[in-house]
Amino acid sequence: MHHFHFHHGVLHAEDIPVPELVAEYGTPLYIYSASTWLRHYQAMDSAFAGVPHLTCYSVKANSNLAILRLLAQAGAGVDIVSGGELFRALRAGVPAERIVYSGVGKKRHEIHEALLAGILLFNVESVQELERISEMASSLGKTARISLRINPDVDPKTHPYISTGLRENKFGLPMDEALAAYTLAQKLPGVEPVGLDCHIGSQLTQLSPFIEALDRLMDFYRQLVARGISLRYLDLGGGLGITYNAEEPPHPTELGAAVAQAVQGTDLTIILEPGRVIAGNTGILVTEVQYLKQNGEKHFVIVDAGMNDLVRPSLYGSYHRIAPVTERPDAPPLVADIVGPICESGDFLAKNREIPMVAPGDLLAVFSAGAYGFVMSSQYNSRPRVAEVLVHEDKHLLIRRRETYQDLVGPEEDGLARLEELGIPSTQG
Ligand SMILES: *Cc1c(COP(=O)(O)O)cnc(C)c1O
Repeated sequence: MHHFHFHHGVLHAEDIPVPELVAEYGTPLYIYSASTWLRHYQAMDSAFAGVPHLTCYSVKANSNLAILRLLAQAGAGVDIVSGGELFRALRAGVPAERIVYSGVGKKRHEIHEALLAGILLFNVESVQELERISEMASSLGKTARISLRINPDVDPKTHPYISTGLRENKFGLPMDEALAAYTLAQKLPGVEPVGLDCHIGSQLTQLSPFIEALDRLMDFYRQLVARGISLRYLDLGGGLGITYNAEEPPHPTELGAAVAQAVQGTDLTIILEPGRVIAGNTGILVTEVQYLKQNGEKHFVIVDAGMNDLVRPSLYGSYHRIAPVTERPDAPPLVADIVGPICESGDFLAKNREIPMVAPGDLLAVFSAGAYGFVMSSQYNSRPRVAEVLVHEDKHLLIRRRETYQDLVGPEEDGLARLEELGIPSTQG
C-alpha cells in the first residue's frame, strides 16, 4: 500500500499532483510520501507486537536526514553499516541505544565513533573484528555489547548480488566456527556477547529461507545456552521483498507469527533490520522525456534520468514499473527501451517496455524507487545529484536540494590551485 495514485488522470503524491512538484523542483526528481513511510514502518513494527522487539530500519536503503528523523520520531531504531551512517543517524536524532552496527569492514575510526556514541551493539562479522573491538573498547575503559553475525548457509532464492547468507558469501561467521568465537568473546575484556545475528539477503519473496535460517539460529542459540552463554537479542536482519512487478512477498505478519512461535519460552528480544520493505514503495523518480528515437526496429525513449540517478535496472536487471504522470488511455502502445543520457549502453531504466506513446516534454514516473534509489546515485558523467522532496498530505518540502555544478568541482579546487607542487604549471593558458 502506498500513497501514489491517479486522480482525474493525473498522478498524485498523497494530495499533490506530481506536475505541480515538477513545476517547482524540476526533473529528475525523487518524491517520497511521508504517510507511506509511517504506514510501512508501523506495518513492520506491529507485525512483531507479540514479542519484545526493536525495529531497526536499515539506513542504507534510504539515508535522507528528514526520513531518518521521521522514523526516529515514530519509535524506530536503525541499522547502520558505516561511520557516515552513524553520523547521519545521530544528526537525525536517533537515540544511540537504538542503533545497531553491521558490516564486514568496520575501520578503527568507525568503531571508535560508535563506542563514543554508546550504540546498542555491534554485529560482528569476524574473529579479527571481535578482537579489534575488544582492544579498542578496553583502551577507552568501555565494554562493547556485541552479537556475532552467523552465516546460516541458506539459499535466499534471490538475485546473487543481494544474497548474503550462503557459505560462499563474504558475510558472517560459518556456524561451525561461531561457537569458538562466542567462547573467545566471553574471555575478551572489552566485549560482552549479548546477541546472535544474521541477514540472509534482500528482496526475499518467500518465507521459507527466513524459517530455515531462524531454525538454525535457534538450534545454535540452544547450544550456547547449554554452554552457559545466555544472550538477550536475536537479530534477524532485513530482506523482506516488495512488489515491483508481480512478486507476492510474504506479509510482515507472517514472519512475525513464525518468529513468535520460534522464540516461545525464551526471553529473547527480537531485532529487525528492514530496509526495502519499508522504503521501497515510499518513493518515485520522476523524469522528463527528451527525445524519441528509432534505430531499425528498435524504439528508444530518451529521458533525463540515467543509471547514475537510479542504478538498479543496470546493476541487477531490476524491474521498475514506469507510467506517464498524465494518463493517456487513447494513446497507441509503444514498445521501447527507456534510456538515460549516460554514455554507456548499460544505461537504461527499462528494456522492451510497453508504455502509451509519449512525446518530448512528457513526464514519466518510475515507481518503487524509495529504496536503493537516491542512495546509490552518483555524479557519473558530471551530473549533479538530483533533488529529493517529501510530501505529507497537501504539503511538500525539499529535503535535499539539487546539486549544482559547483558541488561537482568544489572538492577538487584545492588540488587545482596547488598543482605546481607536482611541478605542473597550475596557471591557465
Ligand atoms: C542491507 C541490509 C539490511 C536491509 O536489507 P533489506 O533487504 O533492504 O531489508 C539489513 N541488514 C543488513 C546487515 C544489511 O546489510
